[in-house]
Amino acid sequence: MPFNTKLTRALGIKVPIVQGGMQWVGYAELASAVSNAGGLGILTALTQPTPEALRAEIRRCKTMTSSPFGVNITLLPAMTPPDYGAYAQVVIDEGIKIVETAGNSPGPVIQQLKAVGTIILHKCTTIRHAESAIKLGVDFLSIDGFECAGHVGETDITNFILLSRARQSLKVPFIASGGFADGQGLAAALSLGAEGINMGTRFMCTVEAPIHVNIKEEIVRASETDTELVMRRWKNTSRLYKNKVSKEASRIERESTTGKFEEIASYVSGKRGREVFINGDADFGVWTAGQVIGLIHDIPTCNDLVKRIETEAEDTLNQASSLIVPSSKL
Ligand code: NAD
Repeated sequence: MPFNTKLTRALGIKVPIVQGGMQWVGYAELASAVSNAGGLGILTALTQPTPEALRAEIRRCKTMTSSPFGVNITLLPAMTPPDYGAYAQVVIDEGIKIVETAGNSPGPVIQQLKAVGTIILHKCTTIRHAESAIKLGVDFLSIDGFECAGHVGETDITNFILLSRARQSLKVPFIASGGFADGQGLAAALSLGAEGINMGTRFMCTVEAPIHVNIKEEIVRASETDTELVMRRWKNTSRLYKNKVSKEASRIERESTTGKFEEIASYVSGKRGREVFINGDADFGVWTAGQVIGLIHDIPTCNDLVKRIETEAEDTLNQASSLIVPSSKL
C-alpha cells in the first residue's frame, strides 16, 4: 500500500524515502534507480566537475526515469570552492523541481531556487540551523542526527533527541536523516513525527550504486563501530569509514602542534576518496559512511530494497497498533 505523508504528496513519490546527496556516488544510475523504485533519487551536483557536466547528467537521468528526481547542492569548505550559483542555475534551467541543500551559508542558493518555486529539502544537524533555514523559506528540513555519514556538525546530538526536538519546535515538516536502513527505522521516524527518511550509506550498498563492488562488500562486512570522526579541530567534523587513511588523518589531527589544515589535507582529499570507488581499494583514501553501516548485510537492487523497507514499515506499524487493546476489551 503506498504511503501518504506530506513528503510523498509534495514530491509526488510513492514511498517516503529520499536518497541523500553523496559525493562521487550520486550519479544518474543511482538516482534513477531510486526514483524508479518509488522513492526520490538525487543527483549530487558537485560530483560533476562543471555546471555544464551537471546539465548533461540531469539530461541523462531524465532518459533513465520518468519519475521525479532531485539535485543535491552542498556548501562546505572545499579545496577548490565551486561556483554554487552556476550549478543552481543549471538546475533551474533544466526544470528540476526538487533540491536538497546542505552546508554553510545556503541563503543565496536557496533564494535563487525559491525565486522559481523549487521545493527545497534543507539538511541540517541542529534545531538552530533548521530555524534559520525556515526563515529562508525551505519546504522541508532533513534532520541529520549525529549517526549520519559525512558532515555531522559540531553538537553531536543523535536522532532520538533531535527528531523529537524537531517535532516539538519546527513549524515546517521534516524528514529523518542519519541511521536509517530498514523499515523498522522508517516506522520509528514516522512515529517520532517525521514525514519520511533520508538514506545515504544504505543506498551505496545496492546493485545500481555506481561504485566498485569491493566497497559494497566492505560495507557488508563492517560494523557500527567502523567509523572515524575527523576535522573537529577545524569545526568541519566528518564521519568517515575507519580505514588506514582516516585513522592516520585522525592521529595527525590529534598530535599536530601547528593546527594547520594543510597537514591533513592530502589525507582527506575528495579526489583521493573518489579513487576508492573507482579502483575498489577501501584503504586508498577517505570515504564517508554512517554508523548505520553496522545494519547493512546485503547488496540488493534499489527496487528490492525500497519494497522491503515499505513492507517492513507497514508490518512494524501494524504490529505496534495491535499492542493497543481497546479499553472495552479489558
Ligand atoms: P575537498 O577535496 O575539497 O575537501 C576534502 C574535505 O576537506 C571535505 O570534507 C572538505 O569539507 C574539507 N575541507 C576542505 N578545505 C577545508 C578547510 N580549509 N578547512 C576545513 N575543512 C576543509 O572535498 P570533496 O570531498 O572533493 O568535495 C568537493 C565539494 O563537494 C565540496 O564543495 C563539498 O562541499 C561537496 N561535498 C558534497 C557532499 C554531498 O554529499 N553532496 C559530500 C561531501 C562534499
